[in-house]
Amino acid sequence: MAEDRRRTLTIALAGNPNSGKTSIFNALTGARQQVGNWPGVTVEKKVGRLTHGEYDIEIIDLPGTYSLTAYSVEERVARSFIIDEKPDVVIHVIDAANLQRNLYLTVQLLELGVDVVLDLNMWDEHLVCGAELDCDRLSTLFGAPVVPTVGHRAEGATELLEAAIKLAENRAEAHRHVPVSYGPHVDDVLSELEGELLRRPELVGDYPVRWVATKLLEGDFEIEQVMTAPPAGDDELAVLVDRCKRHIRTATGSDAEKIISEGRYGYIEGALRESLTEQKVDRMEVSRQIDNVFTSRYLGYPIFFLFVWLLFELTFRLGSYPMDWIDAFVGWLAGTLSVVLPESMLSSLIIDGVIGGVGSVIIFLPNIAILFLGIAFLEDSGYMARAAFLMDRVMHSLGLHGKSFIPMLMGFGCSVPAIMATRTLESSRDRILTILVVPFMSCSARLPVYLLIGGTFFAGRAGVVVFTVYLVGILMAFAVGRVLSKTLFRSVPSPFVMELPPYRLPTPRGLLVHTWERVRVYLKKMGGVILVASVVLWALGTFPTLPRETIDSYESDIETARASDGRSAEERAEELETELERLRVEHSFIGRTGKAIEPAMRPLGFTWEMGVSLVTGFVAKEVVVSTLGVLYHASAEEETETLSKALRAPSSGVTPLAAFAFMIFVLLYTPCIAAVAAIRREAGAGWMYFALAFQTGLAWLSAFGVYQVGRLLGLG
Ligand code: GDP
Ligand code: MG
Repeated sequence: MAEDRRRTLTIALAGNPNSGKTSIFNALTGARQQVGNWPGVTVEKKVGRLTHGEYDIEIIDLPGTYSLTAYSVEERVARSFIIDEKPDVVIHVIDAANLQRNLYLTVQLLELGVDVVLDLNMWDEHLVCGAELDCDRLSTLFGAPVVPTVGHRAEGATELLEAAIKLAENRAEAHRHVPVSYGPHVDDVLSELEGELLRRPELVGDYPVRWVATKLLEGDFEIEQVMTAPPAGDDELAVLVDRCKRHIRTATGSDAEKIISEGRYGYIEGALRESLTEQKVDRMEVSRQIDNVFTSRYLGYPIFFLFVWLLFELTFRLGSYPMDWIDAFVGWLAGTLSVVLPESMLSSLIIDGVIGGVGSVIIFLPNIAILFLGIAFLEDSGYMARAAFLMDRVMHSLGLHGKSFIPMLMGFGCSVPAIMATRTLESSRDRILTILVVPFMSCSARLPVYLLIGGTFFAGRAGVVVFTVYLVGILMAFAVGRVLSKTLFRSVPSPFVMELPPYRLPTPRGLLVHTWERVRVYLKKMGGVILVASVVLWALGTFPTLPRETIDSYESDIETARASDGRSAEERAEELETELERLRVEHSFIGRTGKAIEPAMRPLGFTWEMGVSLVTGFVAKEVVVSTLGVLYHASAEEETETLSKALRAPSSGVTPLAAFAFMIFVLLYTPCIAAVAAIRREAGAGWMYFALAFQTGLAWLSAFGVYQVGRLLGLG
């Protein structure tokens, strides 16, 4: 019986980008979310569900927009959801510290006549800025309930939900539809148009009449299509709209569109004058002053590079301490286990496979955590947006714009979210071009490879060498972008407004949450893909086993050598052991694959072990390290000898020059299976194959160039 009384509610979250919409969404719905796409476009759609009292509530996170015109995909999606799906309530998430600009969207929601709850988010920041806002007054003026919240701390979430429910139940006292006024000229014309529209109910259908009239005056393409274009549209109406527009033009000297938008600002200005007392510290003003330095023509770039350099220094210097501890621990664990466990297939699987593989990757966790923390700091403080802004000028030279720089910066963390972040770009040309260059921004999964190789062959200068590799990636992205935008993508990039949020001091909690989210992905990868890959690699490196007779004959030779006296006999025994190991690996599947692709690797100076690790590296870049770990561990003389030592030993056959070429190869070729899947999802199978072939080809050619030129210069 009780079930009969359950009722359903649909609540949509609207708001400007960065207003804290997603934080509010998370605060309301917790983990019960579903992420998909809006039909027909690659804009993310998030739906969450919750129950409250007698209600089953569905919450939709609309794309972030500044306006409800039909210019961008995001705006079209948000607007058509509100008009067509008719959510019971729209919660407008407002950055309360930036009221003026945010209320522009509020006014448009009011124009649509939807039931809005005004969520004054970032209330904490509003409080520190010293201004005083009369929420009740604002609520009365706009005819909508007002609830202050602090999104990332979930403060006020329950009150917000309750206000929305109350509004849906028509119990909200403040609720009232307020017509927005745009000044006498427009208002008069609007009433006339409204009258005409009311006479055409079949044409107007579900649309709010006054809103349609406004949109017609603004020259909104979608509404014009529906109302005045053939076949269904009305010619007479088109003529009337034209006359109205001309009338406004003569009366005011400006376009109707401009007058209407000014009208909205005037409306906001008026509302704020009544409810907001002078701000003592204007956050935007402070930000503007900081920006005078940070984005200035001459200091902007040096500061930017200083920050990036600082980030890398911190990552490597600070990270080297915990790295040593983990290294020592892994070595100790492998050593202890090799003594404790009886020698068998299983102990080999555990020590060489699991510990050798996962161990060689987990070492880099501290570095990666520091890098992520640094990126989170730059993002949360608002500096990342400035970096994009600075880069805008540069990006134009390769046929992209600053907005593409954000996915590219994210690419330093992980290509997968970076590729997904290209969704914020409007044109598919910009999107695909960005997707193709993002993987050159060296992701954190490649960092372990650089750290290993850099630390092994360029000790002391590792920071500089790794920085160089990153720089090569950036330069390559630029070169490729430039070439592609002159060849395959010849149209012009679409214009857009660059968002510059105010500077904020990041909260420790926010930083930790952001860092942890990303570290968690890394750990999950380690537990999943890398563990499986390590075991599979171990198996491929173990089977097929050498014929029994070969092993027996070697072992008896070793016994004999051991039994005799003297140094040379001992050396002879060790030599035989190493030879047996090498034979064993060469006989295995992995050895055979390595031998098969060796001809392609030799011109690059790579050993077959390196070749194999590149093949397995398609799974994930950390696997390159674990593969080397398994392969070189297998041939190392002592169980506990670290991979680094094994690589440095002359017997490894790796020269510093080849090692550097190897880093370049790893930098440039396809990041990993997950990234390939992301490219396919965002750009289609055709571009996926293109990216695969293109990146691998480029990697080979570049490594070849580095190695051969280096040799000519006598470097290796
Ligand atoms: P969206 O772009 O609208 O989805 O915004 P997000 O939810 O991603 O939030 C943008 C940033 O603002 C994040 O760093 C949040 O942690 C932060 N944030 C969200 N709500 C608040 C708030 O009420 N106060 C403060 N100080 N920061 C917030
Ligand atoms: Mg969001």
